[in-house]
Amino acid sequence: MSFTLAIVGRPNVGKSTLFNRLVGKRLALVDDQPGVTRDLREGPARLGELRFTVIDTAGLEDVTDDSLQGRMRRLTERAVGMADICLFMIDARTGITPTDQVFAEILRKRGAHVIVAANKAEGRAGDGGVLEAFSLGLGEPLRLSAEHGEGLDELYHILRPIA
Ligand code: GDP
Ligand code: MG
Repeated sequence: MSFTLAIVGRPNVGKSTLFNRLVGKRLALVDDQPGVTRDLREGPARLGELRFTVIDTAGLEDVTDDSLQGRMRRLTERAVGMADICLFMIDARTGITPTDQVFAEILRKRGAHVIVAANKAEGRAGDGGVLEAFSLGLGEPLRLSAEHGEGLDELYHILRPIA
């Protein structure tokens, strides 16, 4: 049996970096073709011997503040509806922002199965943000560095029981 993991969270926290790492660069390039929807990207992921589907939410980067919340909500709800489990990513260097709180609320209301991931946590600069991530009330945060490939072992151990 396989499962679908949706990576959700506000722009610029590192969702696509993790997506690319799980799927591989070759497939991610397909997204650069014209006519391909950029809102949700889906690809086959590998982590150790695990094989699953991963969804990256995007298309929020170029919208204005006014339309961001509604669009973000719709997109996130769509991804949550498609997924067995959500990886809710925050930026450990920035800490929790009001926008992160909006995402947490959407996920809570939906009763989604959530892994909170505090990304950009390489080195010590992310320590404060990792602690703050506990305050979201969505469980113990996973310490991650999508760019440096740190925390993927822990992600594997979290995902393995549901595979
Ligand atoms: P998205 O908008 O959530 O998809 O974020 P991206 O994956 O596009 O990443 C946004 C920025 O954060 C890029 O400049 C990445 O290089 C950077 N980034 C992603 N992951 C990490 C990380 O683990 N550590 C650091 N320091 N930067 C990261
Ligand atoms: Mg992205």
